[in-house]
Amino acid sequence: MQIVAPKQLYSYAKMIEDICNLEKQYSSVLSTKKIGESVEGKKIVAIKLGHGETEIFINAAHHAREWLTTSLVMHMVDTYCQGYANDDLIGIFPVRDILSKTSIWFVPMVNPDGVSLVQYGVEGIENCTDVIALNNNQKSFSSWKANINGVDLNRQYPAGWETIDDQIGKPAPSMYKGPSPLSEPETKAIYDFTLEHDFKTAVSYHSSGEEIFWKYKSSGALLNRSKKIATMIKEKTGYQLIYPSPNPSGGGFTDWFLDSLGKPAFTLEISPLVGPRPVPLENYDKIWNDNKELGLMLALEAFLNKDNR
Ligand SMILES: [Zn+2]
Repeated sequence: MQIVAPKQLYSYAKMIEDICNLEKQYSSVLSTKKIGESVEGKKIVAIKLGHGETEIFINAAHHAREWLTTSLVMHMVDTYCQGYANDDLIGIFPVRDILSKTSIWFVPMVNPDGVSLVQYGVEGIENCTDVIALNNNQKSFSSWKANINGVDLNRQYPAGWETIDDQIGKPAPSMYKGPSPLSEPETKAIYDFTLEHDFKTAVSYHSSGEEIFWKYKSSGALLNRSKKIATMIKEKTGYQLIYPSPNPSGGGFTDWFLDSLGKPAFTLEISPLVGPRPVPLENYDKIWNDNKELGLMLALEAFLNKDNR
């Protein structure tokens, strides 16, 4: 039975409820860990699927309005749990076999305060005084990307942070890189969690544009391996590989993972371009179809290449 219903306004509360139910139903393969708290004290939850030592990491919703990435990742967790329980194939991938050799860690909602603000406006948060001013007194927060402090969580990681010219320099609905790298509890939680593990690869889900960011400033063996995996993702999803300028702006999770850890990481932009708003639910079926096998594909790839860089 499916626990996660992804085609709805998928809220933080719904996610927490689903995680509890998944944990009850699938305790043989799924466990959870609180890795930190948002500014307003919402739990940032990591989900572990599998029993293997080879680990990969998939996260979603660094950016508030991109909450459909949370639906996608939760749907993936539920589907892989069912596949494990029933010893099914998903696409060409034998779920139980892959999850016995590997573990996939998911953080489905990096920015729960921001997501709640986008979905419910000031009703969704506790301290609304500052965000109304930051939003130019507009009531709709549907284009908001930042956390509740007005810091863009994907411009916070220590990879070329100093050189980012955000052209804002103060809290805002998007783009502001913050007063220092990792100043925000949400990014610090992801940073610390990542360093506690030896993830072979990572995916950070964003929207929109059907694009794969895979390179940043990588070169040599890392670039070759990253390109190989990015091409596998392209073949599965139809998304386009992005070739950055010679001096790309950093600060993103993927930039940091590539640059500091020296291992492949990918920013995947789901959905055709939709402009500054959440991806509409009618786009979901294709997104799911494009992405449903990716976690298993990347876990198996990591296992087969676990001794390589
Ligand atoms: Zn984004």
